[in-house]
Parts: sequence; C-alpha cells; structure tokens
Amino acid sequence: MLYHSTNDPSHRVPLKEAILRSLPPDNGLYMPDTLPVLGEDFWKVWRDLSFQEIGYAVAEAFFGEDVPEDALSEIVDGTLEFDAPLVAIGKDNHVLELFHGPTLAFKDFGARFMARLMSWLTRDEDRMLTVLVATSGDTGGAVASAFHNVPGTRVVILYPKGKVSGLQEKQLTTLGGNIEAIEIDGTFDDCQRLVKSAFLDRELSERLNLTSANSINLSRLVPQSFYYIHSAKTLDNPPAFVIPSGNFGNLTAGLLARQLGLPVAKFVAATNINDVVPSYLASGEYQPQPSQSTISNAMDVGAPSNFARMQALFGDSWDEMAAVIDGLAFNDEETRAMIRRTHVESGYAIDPHGAVGLLAAEAWRLAHPGTPTITLETAHPAKFLDVMEQELGTGSVAIPERLAILADREKVAGSMGADESAFKDWLQTR
Ligand SMILES: *Cc1c(COP(=O)(O)O)cnc(C)c1O
Repeated sequence: MLYHSTNDPSHRVPLKEAILRSLPPDNGLYMPDTLPVLGEDFWKVWRDLSFQEIGYAVAEAFFGEDVPEDALSEIVDGTLEFDAPLVAIGKDNHVLELFHGPTLAFKDFGARFMARLMSWLTRDEDRMLTVLVATSGDTGGAVASAFHNVPGTRVVILYPKGKVSGLQEKQLTTLGGNIEAIEIDGTFDDCQRLVKSAFLDRELSERLNLTSANSINLSRLVPQSFYYIHSAKTLDNPPAFVIPSGNFGNLTAGLLARQLGLPVAKFVAATNINDVVPSYLASGEYQPQPSQSTISNAMDVGAPSNFARMQALFGDSWDEMAAVIDGLAFNDEETRAMIRRTHVESGYAIDPHGAVGLLAAEAWRLAHPGTPTITLETAHPAKFLDVMEQELGTGSVAIPERLAILADREKVAGSMGADESAFKDWLQTR
C-alpha cells in the first residue's frame, strides 16, 4: 500500500516512510491510497469476535500488504493487553471506558500500536531509533509507557518546567531505561521548537535516526478504530458515537471504522468552548481560533490537526460531512453540572472530558429518541482529581494503583534552557 499527502496526492510513499516520517514534507497528512473495507466474511461473524480478533482484522486490512501475519498479530496482542468495557449508565446511554491502559487515557491504544509497528519497521537496522516528543501533558506519558523496553528504540521527552501536573511529570520521569526526560525552562511552544530544530538539522536527524511520535501519525489512528467496532458489537441497533474531541484523531478513527463497514447512526463531535468544528458543521465556514483554557484541557485546541483528514474522507464536501457528523459544544459550568448530575443519577464518576461527551449525548438523544449513544470516556477521572473533588467531594474518586504508586517514585530528568544549540549538543553526546 502507498500513502499520499492530503496536500498533494502525487506525493506517495511506502508504509515505512509514512510512519517514520509522520508528516509529509508539504505539511499535509498521510492517507492510505485506498481506504480499506472489511468484507462480508468479517461482517457475518463480527459480533462473535474477541477484541483481539477485531483488532487483527482491522490492522490486516490496513497493513496486511506490508506486515506479515505473525508480526501483525504480535503487534495487535501487545497493544490490546487491557479491555475497553462498555458500561450502561441509563436508558440508551452507554459509556465506553478507554482508560484501562497503563497511563489511564485512550492515547495508550495509539501509542502502544505505534511503538510496536515502528520497532518492527526498523527491525533490520542496527542503528537505534530515537523518538523525540514535546509534551504539555498526556501524550508524553502514553508515548513513554508505550516505548518503555521496546528493543531498538529510545525516547527523549521534552516538557515545560513547572507546567505539567505532578503525576503527569512522574509518568514522564520515573520509567528509566530507554526513556529520558528533559525539563525545559520555557513553554510548551519552546519544547516544540527545540524538537523541530533537531529534525531540521538533516545531518543530526539522519545520524541519530530521529522520528517523532505526534498524534497525526497514521499508526496512532488505526488502532483507535478497533474499539468502535468492539463496542458496537453488543448493541442491537447501530449507535451514535459521541466523541469528546480536541485534535479530532479519535473521531477520525471512528470515520475509518465506518469506512471499513461498521453501521453507525451518527458521529457527534463534542467539544468545550473551543468549538471550531461544531461551528464549521453548523455554518460551513472553517475558522481556526487561538485555544482557550477549560477544565477539559486535553480538548483545548483551536486548530485541530486532523481536520484535513476529515475533509479528505468526505471529498472536501461540507454537505457530506454534515450528513454524518453532528457537532455540539458546552462550557465549563455545564460540564461541572453534568459531573454532579451523572453521579447523583447513576453513581458514575465521569471525568470532565467524558462529561462534555455526556452533555452532547443527552442533547442528541433528545432529538433522536430510541437510538443508543456510546460516549467515549477518554480518561480516568483520577487524572483530574481537583475538578472531581470540587464537584463530588474529597475521596469521591479512587486512585488506581498504577497512578498512586508513582507518587513515591523518584523523578529523574535532565534540565536545560530553551536553547536550540544546547539541546542539539546534548543529543549528540548520547
Ligand atoms: C487527547 C485527549 C482528547 C482529545 O482527543 P483527540 O483525538 O485529540 O480529539 C480528549 N480527552 C482526553 C482525556 C485526551 O487525553
């Protein structure tokens, strides 16, 4: 299979380049030349398949031409070492819990698959693959955990000093082994600038075999489509999927699942006040904005990086996109009220991102009675303990063991100013 850039369909590269490069040189996004469809054989039996079997069928449809069966099933099994349970919290109201992975967020699915695929793609190279990531929080933790102990790889994470939460910092700085963290005396944008400067230095980039692990990498999206199919298999009717969204990678993965043949009533793009996509769906005009801070901060995105892929999937037609996706946006006050009301009505503790989703799901069901909704719960509520305890009281959310034990681990991190040549020197000496 070849992959092309959304900006230039004639720029085509093989799988290895699309994954290791992440971004085409023209700043578009990579898309497969043909979008795979799962055949009748699959859709005859899909309700009886396990999560792993569904994952393998999807991965095979995308990567089967390039990756042999035994390697691909190892990649899928290694990715799916935890479940994604579907929990009913009311009539037609389902929550898909995507937080049972090592870093308690849905990003574990994409990061784990990407790490294993990259490791396989570079299996014959004697050079180490160096993965550079700049993070403002959750992505770095998922990537660090995913690459930890993966042979032939090492990870360098840059994060802004004092600007990530205490537990997030521990997720970046306590793994050791092939994971190194550097705290940068600067902002997240400085961290991104340093990473970019290393890539732009062709000699350095070539010699250290640098790659990036950002969220527009196609190999992070494909495994996220597994759980759309897995969750819908137990419902009698095609559901509407409600997706709390920021960069719209998760929603794009849902569109890929639909393309594979999954029957879907609708996708509902749920956002906080950073509502560029719901506004576009309502008006047909796409107007990126500076991002605004909210309590669902992983969705504070004013220019969603996967929007170009969504447009490509609908042939740049607003009408076609608006026929498949509805958009709804909510503010922090509404989100807080939903956290409280969900707890009162069903005893369920929903995190602020999921609460934006439940608001959208409720509004959508009101307009479409009888159709079940599946709301993606993108993170464990313990990751947002401050907000949860403000709304539900102290001790209302149990902290999972794998998060709690980090508190006592010792942080190991380098530190440096936001200086490009100092950073490049540091990389050289490794
Ligand atoms: C990353 C993230 C999101 C947004 O996902 P996108 O794929 O960028 O739309 C939502 N919730 C949580 C908790 C996240 O970490």
